Amino acid sequence: MPAEPLDPVALRVAARSQRKSMGRLTRLVRASMSLVWQAGPRSFVALASLQVVSAIALALQVLAVQWVLSAVLADDLRADFSSVLAPVTLLAVLSATGAVAGALQSQLQRLLGEMVARTMWTRVLRVATGVDLRHFESPEFYDHLNRVQTNAVARPYQVTQGVLSMAGAGAAGVGLSIALASVSPLLLVLVLVGGVPLLLTSRRESRLEFAFSVGQTPVLRERAYLAMIQTGREEAQEVRAFGLGSWLGERFDALYDRYLGDLRRHAVRRTLLSLVGQLGSAVVLGGTLLFLVWLVARGTIDVAGAGAAIIAIRMLASQVQSVFRGVQLIFESGLFLDDLDAFLAMGAPALEGTSGPQAPSGFDTIRVDDVRFRYPGAEVEALRGIDLEVHAGEIVALVGENGSGKTTLAKLLAGLYRPDGGRIEWDGTDTTTFAPASLRERVSVTFQDFVRYAFSATENITVGRAGAESSPDEVRAAARAAGAEQLLDDLPQGFATRLSRLFTGGTDLSGGQWQRVALARSFFRDAPLVILDEPTAALDPRAEHELFATLRDVLDGRTALFISHRFSTVRGADRIFVLEGGRVVEQGTHAELMSARGLYADLYRLQADTDVAGGPAQA
Ligand code: ADP
Repeated sequence: MPAEPLDPVALRVAARSQRKSMGRLTRLVRASMSLVWQAGPRSFVALASLQVVSAIALALQVLAVQWVLSAVLADDLRADFSSVLAPVTLLAVLSATGAVAGALQSQLQRLLGEMVARTMWTRVLRVATGVDLRHFESPEFYDHLNRVQTNAVARPYQVTQGVLSMAGAGAAGVGLSIALASVSPLLLVLVLVGGVPLLLTSRRESRLEFAFSVGQTPVLRERAYLAMIQTGREEAQEVRAFGLGSWLGERFDALYDRYLGDLRRHAVRRTLLSLVGQLGSAVVLGGTLLFLVWLVARGTIDVAGAGAAIIAIRMLASQVQSVFRGVQLIFESGLFLDDLDAFLAMGAPALEGTSGPQAPSGFDTIRVDDVRFRYPGAEVEALRGIDLEVHAGEIVALVGENGSGKTTLAKLLAGLYRPDGGRIEWDGTDTTTFAPASLRERVSVTFQDFVRYAFSATENITVGRAGAESSPDEVRAAARAAGAEQLLDDLPQGFATRLSRLFTGGTDLSGGQWQRVALARSFFRDAPLVILDEPTAALDPRAEHELFATLRDVLDGRTALFISHRFSTVRGADRIFVLEGGRVVEQGTHAELMSARGLYADLYRLQADTDVAGGPAQA
C-alpha cells in the first residue's frame, strides 16, 4: 500500500495522539543513531568519545574545586603555598580539556551534520524522482515534499546530537550526582526535581512546533513561488513586459506579513510555555540553595563542602536541563521523522518499478482497448474508452482539438500513468504486468514542454539514454537526424557548449533550435516506440518539411506516434486517429478521412482556409 501524503489536519491529529512512551523514544533514537552512523561512522565515534571526555572533565572539576577550597581554607596556607599548586593546576588542566573538547566537538558536529544531510537528501531526491507521476498532481504532495526538505532532512542528526549531548550530560550528571550526594543526598533529589517542570512543558512545545510547521507550509510554498517568479530567468521578460514587479512584490509582502504575524504569536506561546517550565525549575533551585544554607548554618556540612555543593548544583542543574532538552528535541523531531518516514515510504513502489517481468525489446502490435483515465482530483475523465491499434514500423498521427486527450494518451502509452480502466497490450500482454521502468525504457517520448537542461548540448542529447555508454558519433548522428548538427557545431564550443546563460560560458537557443535538440534527444534514446508531442510546433516550414521527409529513414523501422496540429505533416502519416472528448472518433489515412467528410475533414479545411500564405491545401 503506497503511503499517501497526509493532509495537515490528519497530521495534527496524529501529532496530538503521540504519547511520550519509552518505546517510541527508543525507536526514534535507534533509527536516528543508525542513520547518523551510516552517514559518518568515524566522525560519530569521535564525537561520542569527545562527549565522554568533556563529561569526565566536568565531573572531576567539582572534586578539584573541593580540593582547592580545602587547601585554601587549611590553616597552614601561609606556611606552605605549594599545597594549593597541585589542585589549582589540576583544575586548570581539567577546564582546558573541557574547552578543547568543546571546540573540537563543534566543528565535528558541523561536519557530521552535513554528512547526514547528504544521506537524507539522496534518499529524498530518489523518492522525488521515482514516485508515481500522479503525486505531482496533488498539492498535499508538494506540501509534504516541502516539509521534508525544510525540516525533516536535518532531524535525524538533531536527534542524534540530542542523544549524544544527553549521554554526555548523563555521564557528567552521574559524576556530579555522586559528588553532590556525598555532601547531602537530599540536595541531589531536589536538583533532579528541578528538571520536572521543564519535562512537563516540553511535550506541549514539541506539538506546537510541529503544528506550526505543518500549518505554514502552504504559505511558505506560495511565497517561494512568488519569489521564484520574480527572480526566474524565464519569467523575467514577461514580468517586465507586463510591469508585474510591484504587484508581485505586494503579494509577496502580504504573505510575509501573514507569516511574521503567525510566527510572532507562535513565538509568544512557546516563550510563555518555556517560561513556565524555567520558572518552575528556578523556584526549585532557589529552594535547594536555601536548604543548603540551612545545612551550613546547622553545621551539617563545612564551608568547603558547601562551596563544592554550590558548584555541583549549578552544574548538575544545567546537565539535568540538557537531558530534558534532549528528550524534548527527540520528541519534537519524532513528529517530523514520522513525516519523513511517510515520505520515504512513497518511494517503495518506485523501487518496485524495476522488479517484475521485463517488457520485450519490441512489439508487432500495440493495442489500446477501451482505455479510461482520470487525472487525480479531476471531475471528468480525460480518456473515455480509447480503442486503437498501432503496428510495428508505422508512423501514426493523433489529431484533435485542445483537451481532446492526445497528450494524456501519449503519457499512458509511455507508461507514465496506468489506465484506470481498459488495457494497453503489447502483442497481447497487458503492459501493466511489465516492470514499469522496463516499459519506459522501450518508449522514447518528447513532450511539448520538454525540459531545456542547463547542461552541455551533448548532455542535452545523451539524457535521452542517461547512464548508458555513448560515443560522440552516436550523439552527432542523433543531432543530424533532428537537423541540429550544424547549429550545434556553430556554437562557441560546439557540442560542448552549455545551453543556458545561467552559467558562465553558456548560450541559449531559439525555440525552434531547442526543439531540434529535443528531437535529437528522442532519436538518441533508441527505443522501438517513439512518441512526439507537437514535435514541429516551433519549427519553421522548411525545417518541418525536412524533418518529415527524412523521418522514415531516421526511424529505421521503429514505430512513431506523433501529435500535431499541422495538417501538412499529419497527412503524411500511415494512419491518423482523430480524438474528441477522450475518444477516438475517426481513423484512417488522410484520403480516407477526407472522403469521410467528418471532423478531420472539417479541421483540415478550417486550417487550409486560414493558411493564407500557404496557398490552398490539397485534399
Ligand atoms: P490534448 O493533448 O488533446 O490537448 P490533454 O490530454 O492534455 O489534451 O488533456 C485532456 C483533458 O485532460 C483536458 O480536459 C485537460 O483539461 C485534462 N488534463 C490534462 N492534464 C491534466 C492534469 N494534469 N490534471 C487534470 N486534468 C488534466
